[in-house]
Amino acid sequence: MSTRNELKRKACEAIEKRKNELIAVAKMILENPETGFSEAKTSRLVAREFDLRGIPYRDRLALTGVKGEIKGGRGPGPKVSVIGELDALLVSEHASADSKTGAAHACGHHAQIGMMLGAITGLQVPEVLSHLSGSIVPFAVPAEEFVQVERRMALRDQKRIEFLSGKQELIRLGEFDDVDMAIMCHTASDMVKSTFAVGGTSNSHVVKYIEFIGKGAHAGGSPHLGINALNAAAWSIMAVHANREVFPESETVRLHGIIGYGGESVSAVPSDVRLEWRVRSATPEAVARNSTKIDQCFKAGALAVGAKVKITTIPGYMPVRNNSGLQGLFKQNAQALVGKDKVVQMPPNRNRGGSTDMGDLSQIIPACHPYTAGAVGAGHSKDYTITDYEMAVVNPAKIMAMVVIDLLADGAAGAKEVLEGWQPAMTKDQYLAFQRDRAQVVEFDGGEV
Ligand SMILES: [Zn+2]
Ligand SMILES: [Zn+2]
Repeated sequence: MSTRNELKRKACEAIEKRKNELIAVAKMILENPETGFSEAKTSRLVAREFDLRGIPYRDRLALTGVKGEIKGGRGPGPKVSVIGELDALLVSEHASADSKTGAAHACGHHAQIGMMLGAITGLQVPEVLSHLSGSIVPFAVPAEEFVQVERRMALRDQKRIEFLSGKQELIRLGEFDDVDMAIMCHTASDMVKSTFAVGGTSNSHVVKYIEFIGKGAHAGGSPHLGINALNAAAWSIMAVHANREVFPESETVRLHGIIGYGGESVSAVPSDVRLEWRVRSATPEAVARNSTKIDQCFKAGALAVGAKVKITTIPGYMPVRNNSGLQGLFKQNAQALVGKDKVVQMPPNRNRGGSTDMGDLSQIIPACHPYTAGAVGAGHSKDYTITDYEMAVVNPAKIMAMVVIDLLADGAAGAKEVLEGWQPAMTKDQYLAFQRDRAQVVEFDGGEV
């Protein structure tokens, strides 16, 4: 009978032995970045890796997701998912950007696929797997970065997806119905002296797609015959700024957006201007409140010049609710691997300001979303680069393998303990109803008031 520590040692040895191969997979994904719901090459690469390891899987879930299952040798029991995110975002100035699409791994998700494959490399060692109950579900999930909203709305109109992010859509499709708990690990560049960070939370958000509709006219000869949609948009952005002083700091409000389309010919009064916007706040209640306020700003822009505006509010993310049991296991194993002083525990209300759909999943099943070092540069910028793949891929792979051993060894006593203490914030049905309720279209004619 092997002790858990022996199983962990064997799993880590196997990961160590194949680490160059795992890092090579991550680098291959880095060089072939694809944005959410179009991660075709990345998805195929994951499927090939599962084939090589003899892991049965289903693919094309929420268009590009790949979900495997590795059964432990001790019979049925809880299913633990090890998640890796497939997608890049658009940062065309990034050194590893795709020259045609502008996609770049400026959030380090390529490392996540490497660490997910690494974790299962350790867990598939026969002497390890034979001691585990239940199963491991390695799950490569699409579209965490909530970008290219117009394109995703077109996919929704074609009925290929309903929700515009990967985990949201996978929840809807029932792909997490048979998963009891989920772990993953994200890279970070702001770790100072720490190697791992656990705890904390993230912002909730909604996504806005705003269409200002004006009236075209010759911009020199007859501007008085036009209605300038770009001026309406510009005025609405100023109205958003005029509200910034009213938000309490505890709500970590972030209001930001881009002009996706700003007009057609400089010689014509712009009649069609479209924005993508984001309303982030610490709680879904604050998001709802601030979302209404921001809608007023877009209406104010339309009103100022007599334009029309159509505001589509799209369900965004929920705050991360780290499960204390999973987080505790991650912390213990991280401390064992890299030393006590290298693992920082963030307080539960520490909010980094960003958002993730792991937050959505964490409302429904026990989940944790820790961070590993290994990156430099500001996230989502051209400078965000994984410089230390041992830290970004190999260490988290080992820790996640050890966490799964703690959960599924000894008759899955660890996983059962997590489940006994677990209270979901929402059932899946409540979650879907809540998100569908957040979807809204508001039309306002500033020329008719
Ligand atoms: Zn990101
Ligand atoms: Zn990310």
